[in-house]
Amino acid sequence: MLKGKTALVTGSTSGIGLGIAKALARQGANIVLNGFGDVDTPRAEVLAAGQASGAQVAYHGADMSRAADIEDMMRYSEAQFGQVDILVNNAGIQHVANVEDFPVERWDAIIAINLTSAFHTSRLALPAMRRANWGRIINVASVHGLVGSAQKSAYVAAKHGIVGLTKVTALETATTGITANAICPGWVLTPLVQKQVDAKAAAHGLTNEEATKLLLGEKEPSMQFTTPDELGELAVFFCSTAANNVRGVAWNMDGGWAAQ
Ligand code: NAD
Repeated sequence: MLKGKTALVTGSTSGIGLGIAKALARQGANIVLNGFGDVDTPRAEVLAAGQASGAQVAYHGADMSRAADIEDMMRYSEAQFGQVDILVNNAGIQHVANVEDFPVERWDAIIAINLTSAFHTSRLALPAMRRANWGRIINVASVHGLVGSAQKSAYVAAKHGIVGLTKVTALETATTGITANAICPGWVLTPLVQKQVDAKAAAHGLTNEEATKLLLGEKEPSMQFTTPDELGELAVFFCSTAANNVRGVAWNMDGGWAAQ
């Protein structure tokens, strides 16, 4: 379905971004990976996912808090594959503290990585998408783009911000073949969330299993994690022709979290 298209997925060496990269590769899209840590394992996983459809995989290690790195990554993606047709803004970090205790440098980093980076990638990807009159921008927001939680001021502000950016991008491209939409997951068991499970286990003297149940029970009525594979399939739907006129939505996949 996506053979001949190129997808840049930020923060795709782990977790949700890796799940989305694999799902898009399975559909035949060439993939530009980005993110920190081990690159060989995620690269091999994405190559294996795209093997049957001949998808190619490249990697750029841009730090998404730096505009100059992002500009370099966009140039690199175009040099590798011609242009970016599908842009998945996924890189993100978390920090948990009350507003009055929130470290200023953590606030700045979360806004830069979780929000401002998507502005930079979008502004740089849109001209080629407009020339092709086809494009997909998928912003991985969060249920925290729709509702708040205590101690997550920077994250909730950034995620509400990216939902707003998604709507404006969708309006500015509404008469074109480019769509912009946001995905709003509830809990997904990735390293970002395991750190929060670990913190609960340490704070309350619980086992990993007990702390996981506590975390899910506080917010997610289904008592189940959403998986990176499920989120990957939602991204594939946004890239399909069936989604040609889905514009500016913030689509939650959250086990009923925001329905409460
Ligand atoms: P993760 O920690 O597994 O992956 C984060 C990815 O971002 C990694 O590849 C990491 O290397 C990369 N990254 C971090 N800082 C970066 C930087 N400065 N520059 C480039 N890459 C950077 O986390 P995840 O849970 O898969 O989160 C991915 C996205 O999904 C985030 O935007 C997060 O807010 C969002 N999200 C996660 C959950 C969840 O429950 N895990 C829920 C809702 C939304």
